[in-house]
Amino acid sequence: MLEVKNLMVFYENAIAINNVNMTCKKGVITGAFGANSAGKSTLMYTISGIMLDIKKKEEMRGGERITVLGSINYDGADIINMKPSERAKKGIILCPERRRIFPESSALENLKIGGYLATKTQAKKTLEYVFTIFPSLKELQGREGGFLSGGEQQMLAIGRALMAQPKLLLLDEPLLGLSPRIEAILARTVKEINREIGITILITEQYARPIFPIIDYGYVLENGGAVLEGTAKELMENPDVKSAYFGL
Ligand code: ATP
Repeated sequence: MLEVKNLMVFYENAIAINNVNMTCKKGVITGAFGANSAGKSTLMYTISGIMLDIKKKEEMRGGERITVLGSINYDGADIINMKPSERAKKGIILCPERRRIFPESSALENLKIGGYLATKTQAKKTLEYVFTIFPSLKELQGREGGFLSGGEQQMLAIGRALMAQPKLLLLDEPLLGLSPRIEAILARTVKEINREIGITILITEQYARPIFPIIDYGYVLENGGAVLEGTAKELMENPDVKSAYFGL
């Protein structure tokens, strides 16, 4: 479904993604984890194409030079130069780090905005589905996004991404800053979404523990490089992963 090959991303002369090769198989959950600055958000921006917008903006204001090299094959075509809006139409939808919901719009409006690519029928059906998996959003649909709790805002961000009818959903650190209880609820729901509607998911996280139970395959990012990969079981049994990511 998605094959990232020899991907390199430079911010000016600093390397943020260093020769990453990564595959996300159809219908499964792939995890990419790494510490702060490992390159998780850069990877997600590059796959979703937002990096091209950032690059253009930087060029227009005479800022830093961003270079992207390598290939990103999605459903048989190299999309590395494709605009983010075109990628979204093909089903590549990013749920960005730190949620980025619209704080002054109600939860319902936030969800409706997410549905701009959907037909009326799809939007209606997906809205019902979002309210089924996140019942608290149904109750709070009239509340302004900015007045929701961190966990509710993350549910809203995932719901909004679902409204865009993703085939490949990119979840960038969805558990960031949440309590262990909410982390567990969200991780379970991500698995449910994957199982029930068969969406392919790429999820990044800083800590392995909450997402390990739900991923099928994972990559460890360090200083922009993918230094380890394997099934969840293989990674969990790896002594380096145990000590660095589980504190064992
Ligand atoms: P975090 O968990 O802190 O969000 P991350 O794994 O998402 O980290 P990135 O944000 O992708 O990491 O950053 C990767 C590297 O690229 C870091 O060294 C970071 O300082 C650098 N970087 C990120 N954005 C820029 C930018 N706009 N200009 C220059 N360097 C950047």
